[in-house]
Amino acid sequence: MPARSPLTVLLAQPRGFCAGVIRAIQTVEHALQLHGPPVYVVHEIVHNRTVVRELSAKGAVFVERVEEVPRGAVAVLSAHGSAHSVFDRAERRVLRVVDAVCPLVAKVHQQARRYASEGRAIILIGHRGHPEVEGTVGSVGVPVHVVSSLREVAALRLSADEPAAYVTQTTLSMDDARSIIDALKQRFLDLRGPELDDICYATQNRQDAVRRLAGEVEMVLVVGSPKSSNSNRLREVAAECGVAAYLLDEAMQLDPAWLRGINRLGLTAGASAPESVVQSVLERLSLLRELEVREHEGSREQVRFRLPMAALRATVRRPRNSLRCSAPA
Ligand code: SF4
Repeated sequence: MPARSPLTVLLAQPRGFCAGVIRAIQTVEHALQLHGPPVYVVHEIVHNRTVVRELSAKGAVFVERVEEVPRGAVAVLSAHGSAHSVFDRAERRVLRVVDAVCPLVAKVHQQARRYASEGRAIILIGHRGHPEVEGTVGSVGVPVHVVSSLREVAALRLSADEPAAYVTQTTLSMDDARSIIDALKQRFLDLRGPELDDICYATQNRQDAVRRLAGEVEMVLVVGSPKSSNSNRLREVAAECGVAAYLLDEAMQLDPAWLRGINRLGLTAGASAPESVVQSVLERLSLLRELEVREHEGSREQVRFRLPMAALRATVRRPRNSLRCSAPA
C-alpha cells in the first residue's frame, strides 16, 4: 500500500452550533422529556440532516405543515421563526405550541413591526423562499418587499420620497448586505435601518474565522446543509478569498478528487452543523491522507440563550381536578 501523503488541516474557530441552534435542539429535547414521544416539529428545527435524524430517533416527528400534526398535540416551531398564519392555523388545531424561534430572529421581527407602526414601507434584505425570510415576511402585518440584489433594489416599486425601513436576514454575508444597504440609502430620502446589526454574532464570527483561515490554506471544506443559508455563505466567503471551497452535509460526500494537489486545508462548520460531522470528516480524511490537525486561532463564544421554559410548561395539560382547591384537612 503506497504511503499516504501528508495533509495539514486547520480547524476554524469558532465553527458549528450557535446559541440559537443549541436552544432549538434543547427545546425539542425538553418537550420530549416533558411529554414523551411523539413531539411534532414543524419544519426542520434547524437545517441539518444529522440533527433531524438524532431527534427523530428520540421521538420527534418532523412535518412540513401544522395540518399534519394531530389535533391537541405538542408542536415545536423551528428556530427560523414562523409567520403569524402558522400560529393561527396551529390555534385552529388546538395545538400546544412551543416557539423555538432564535431570539435574534425574533428581534428582527420586532424591529420590522416597529418600523411598520411608524408607517414606513418595509424592505427585507434576504433570500426569498428561505424559511427565516418567509417567517419575517409573515410576522410584520404589512406587505414586505424582499430584495437580495442591487438589481432588485433598483426594481422596487416604491417612490424615492416614501418613508422606508430595512431589516436583514440574520445569516447574510456582511459584504452582500452592506452593498444592498448602500444602494437603499441612495434610493430613498427617508430610510431607517439597523445598519448591519441584524447579521447575527454567530454568522459574523464564522465568516471572520473563514477569512482568517483562507489566507493560510489551499482549500476550505464547510460542513453544512445545502439548505443552510449561513453554511452557503461560509463557502462563498472562502471562494471570494480565492481558495477552492466545498459544502458537504456528511463525511461520505467528501470527494477524494478534491484533495489532489492540496497540502493545507481549512475545515469549518455552519451554525446548524454538529461537531460530530466535523469529526467524521476528519476520520475520513485520515483514511486518505496522513493528517496533522490544528485548531486555528480565533475567538471563543460565550453567548447562551435561555430555553423557552414558560412555553414548555404551558404545554403540560393539568388534570381537570388539579384546578380545584381542596379543603384543609
Ligand atoms: S445563526 Fe444566528 S440567528 Fe440563526 S439561529 Fe444561530 S444565533 Fe440565531
